[in-house]
Amino acid sequence: MQENTAAGTPEQKTGRSVLVTGGNRGIGLAIAQSFLANGDRVAITHRSGDVPPGMLGVKADVTDTAQIDAAFAEVEEAHGPVEVLIANAGITRDTLLLRMSESDFTDVVDTNLTGAFRVIKRASRGMIRLRKGRIVLISSVSGLYGAPGQINYSASKAGLVGIARSLTRELGSRGITCNVVAPGFINTDMTAALPAETQQNYLSSIPAGRFAESDEVANVVRWVASDEAAYISGAVIPVDGGLGMGH
Ligand code: NDP
Repeated sequence: MQENTAAGTPEQKTGRSVLVTGGNRGIGLAIAQSFLANGDRVAITHRSGDVPPGMLGVKADVTDTAQIDAAFAEVEEAHGPVEVLIANAGITRDTLLLRMSESDFTDVVDTNLTGAFRVIKRASRGMIRLRKGRIVLISSVSGLYGAPGQINYSASKAGLVGIARSLTRELGSRGITCNVVAPGFINTDMTAALPAETQQNYLSSIPAGRFAESDEVANVVRWVASDEAAYISGAVIPVDGGLGMGH
């Protein structure tokens, strides 16, 4: 466990106990910072890098159930049961179907889909006891719109919609909501790795005519996890500048 008290006050028992997987960089970091600015007690899982100021950092790989268990125990000890879970950790391994190995497929599913299942299962125990909770799954426009070279990734991201809807039916009466936020093209390390031609192709099909920054996703995630959104569950909320419209 690494408690970073350089800024903010994670020891202070105000706000809600929030956990963001993969909160050390990119969209996850923006989400974590948004909850922190809201006055919540924010913990992030990370495998690499530093813990951002004001947050509790717990080392965990979402493909490893024992590491997730240990991470939750640390967060519960420091901040109390997780009331808001953001399943954000994700990877790509893009390639066309005929070149895609079975491990390209299963590794992506293991991280993006089974990884979400593992953290949701662990978090739901405390939420059921509390009779409240907010779960937000970070999917992608690729999940429902599809994308060449992303059979593995889009399958994993579409699967999150099934999780959110089934979980809503299982736990909706316990004050728990589960929603999907589906970003389009966001400027992060993940998209910076795409070839210039792929980036240009995306850009030409986005009605907004631009890519987005991570905080544009974070603002929506924070809102759907707020009291104001208590009657929204099992929804897929696009943050994609219109790219996937109608999907
Ligand atoms: P980044 O590649 O910038 O960050 C990915 C994050 O996930 C990192 O914190 C990384 O941790 C973490 N992570 C990856 N694998 C694991 C694992 N096995 N266990 C724990 N943590 C892991 O990606 P983005 O910020 O761009 O993406 C965040 C989420 O948003 C992903 O789910 C992605 O699919 C989704 N998304 C992104 C879009 C975009 O345009 N950027 C569009 C649509 C969806 P570490 O630093 O240790 O590697």
